[in-house]
Amino acid sequence: MIPFNKPFVTNRELGYIAEAYGNAHLSGDGAFTKKCHAWLEAQTGASKALLTHSCTAALEMAAMLAGIGPGDEVIMPSYTFVSTANAFVLRGAVPVFVDIRADTCNLDETLVEAAITDRTRAIVAVHYAGVACAMDALQEIARRHQLLLIEDAAQGVMARYKGQALGAIGDFGTYSFHETKNVTCGEGGALLVKAPDAAQRAEIIREKGTNRSQFFRGQVDKYTWVDVGSSYLPGELVAAFLWAQLQEAETITAARLAIWARYHALLAPLEAAGLLRRPVVPADCEHNAHMYYVVLAPHLDRQQVLAGLRAAGVNAVFHYVPLHSAPAGRQFGRAHGSLAVTDRVGEQLLRLPLWIGLTAEAQEDVVRHLRISLG
Ligand SMILES: *Cc1c(COP(=O)(O)O)cnc(C)c1O
Repeated sequence: MIPFNKPFVTNRELGYIAEAYGNAHLSGDGAFTKKCHAWLEAQTGASKALLTHSCTAALEMAAMLAGIGPGDEVIMPSYTFVSTANAFVLRGAVPVFVDIRADTCNLDETLVEAAITDRTRAIVAVHYAGVACAMDALQEIARRHQLLLIEDAAQGVMARYKGQALGAIGDFGTYSFHETKNVTCGEGGALLVKAPDAAQRAEIIREKGTNRSQFFRGQVDKYTWVDVGSSYLPGELVAAFLWAQLQEAETITAARLAIWARYHALLAPLEAAGLLRRPVVPADCEHNAHMYYVVLAPHLDRQQVLAGLRAAGVNAVFHYVPLHSAPAGRQFGRAHGSLAVTDRVGEQLLRLPLWIGLTAEAQEDVVRHLRISLG
């Protein structure tokens, strides 16, 4: 069986965890967390990076920092993971779902402006598969309408748009270090803050609404409850694991890109035969090979193709059930206009196994079995 994912480990994780144990500082914001923060800030150019339990937690923090409240509207794609919407629904806001582009599966920037109302507060750019949204256009719309631009860059670690790190372009950005992402610590994430003056509030929200971080830096003489907040920081054992991975992030990305490129070459004939389309990476995007997906031609039955692959020992998967058609999406959100591209991609997209260690032979097998399963 060729599994869909196998988490990569650098073999330095356990040594760092032992070191954290030896440091006798196991709660958050110890030496390893600080190393991760410094690395993320240097890598992305964000004025502040803060580790969180998950990208979900970072999105919740972004929603609080954005001052989102009941009745506010937040524009986002429907073709995304549930956390993109949940973070805002938790603040009482209404996700307004806009269709995606047929090439990148990212928010269609040409449809965003028509979805803006006087209740709109923010736009969430989800960088699907680590390929950037059209950030120049989205930034321009956000500026013109005085909206915040939040990046769900869960899949975008190490990817760039016009040279800028994803997650550090908008006002707030979020990363995921979940086991299924490129750089991982099992469950983990980070919040990136662009403006230095929002950084302090981010620290407070992450530390249960207290000014504990300032207290430890000696900036205040006692720490106290100053704002809303929750507990969003991971412990040092998790940060130690992540530190090993961040140090290898370049190598991880290069290895994944090589696997991605091999699929891309192997699948060209199937695209030429009109059976599927391959991912599109616009010229201004440097992606990170987070995933390899194909969109099957409309006449093909994805369930049948997946079953064929599984019978041949290939664990391919699909996602997402578009949020506007999910029970909670219908309850809490609303669709703006036609979501025809979202619906089509939601029905026909299929993801192939991609993990470090997947051999060229295994990739050839995957593509051969895919061709057979397409009939
Ligand atoms: C993985 C993912 C998330 C959630 O990440 P967690 O770290 O598991 O909370 C959110 N949004 C997108 C687009 C994702 O791919």
